[in-house]
Amino acid sequence: MAFPVTRLRRLRRNEALRSLVRETYLTPENFVYPIFVCPGKGVRKPVRSMPGVFNLSVDEAVKEVREVRALGVPSVIVFGLPERKDEVATGAWADDGIVQQAARAIKRDVPDAILIGDVCLCEYMSHGHCGIVKAAAQSLGAAAPPPAATTEYEIVNDATLELLARTSISLARAGIDIIAPSDMMDGRVGAIRKGLDEAGFSNTPILSYAAKFASAFYGPFREAADSAPQFGDRRSYQMDPANFREAMREMEADLEEGADMIMVKPAMPYLDVIAAARKRFDVPLAAYQVSGEYAMIEAAAQNGWIDRERVMMESLTSIRRAGASMILTYYAKDAARLLG
Ligand SMILES: [Zn+2]
Repeated sequence: MAFPVTRLRRLRRNEALRSLVRETYLTPENFVYPIFVCPGKGVRKPVRSMPGVFNLSVDEAVKEVREVRALGVPSVIVFGLPERKDEVATGAWADDGIVQQAARAIKRDVPDAILIGDVCLCEYMSHGHCGIVKAAAQSLGAAAPPPAATTEYEIVNDATLELLARTSISLARAGIDIIAPSDMMDGRVGAIRKGLDEAGFSNTPILSYAAKFASAFYGPFREAADSAPQFGDRRSYQMDPANFREAMREMEADLEEGADMIMVKPAMPYLDVIAAARKRFDVPLAAYQVSGEYAMIEAAAQNGWIDRERVMMESLTSIRRAGASMILTYYAKDAARLLG
């Protein structure tokens, strides 16, 4: 039946009709709120490029999670800004690391909050890369310049896996409920699963950042997490934004290694990847609406160029419509407030 029998506008005439036939709903249960924990007490330091986002000391992080839970958002993902950085990312796996401290404090105060622990080394490495760095073979030798002076360096894959597993075990021990590796080393999910199982954490699920692209949309996060690489970039481990089929291989590999859930990051520039992953894999699928996506909306809204609330909800709806079951978003609180 074509027009005039078919008139699609019939079901759009008012909000009651529209909501009756709406295909995609957002609920606070879908959201994960990212928090950035830093040393100190009573610290609530604004992140300049992300209005409304703060570096929080442990005591403030506890308050924040209490608020998040009260809004109906079940989960937060925790990032850490350590006191000191070094070449082996001690702050990531130390039992008194900043995320470990935060996890213990939050679990004491808000035991029903689901804590996701981001597992990566960049925030804890003096060079800001996600793995162990060594000068590449061709520049080794007595006269080799330090990596900072050259592009002749390598992010070592297999040696990094041991640190990632150690970090994951330490986080699980501190009360983190879900381990979320974001480093993009090959074989990390398998190494982490094995480490967790051997340490008695066989019930701790893994949410892998399976398709994490080397994106310019991460810019503001690097200020928030103080994790910018001191030299070079992350293109030798994060994915080329042009590659769709490779994203499918990454997700398949992580699932084969034991990932319970997978993530696509960023979200809005990669909705095609999210939609394809939804069709292809029968596991919970997360998408990370990253700092740059957030900052662009905030900046345009501050200029009065867009309607902040509507763009916020439309962007989240698009990610959900593409097929993400969970959305990691800096809008978790604001969107939950609107939905409540
Ligand atoms: Zn990293």
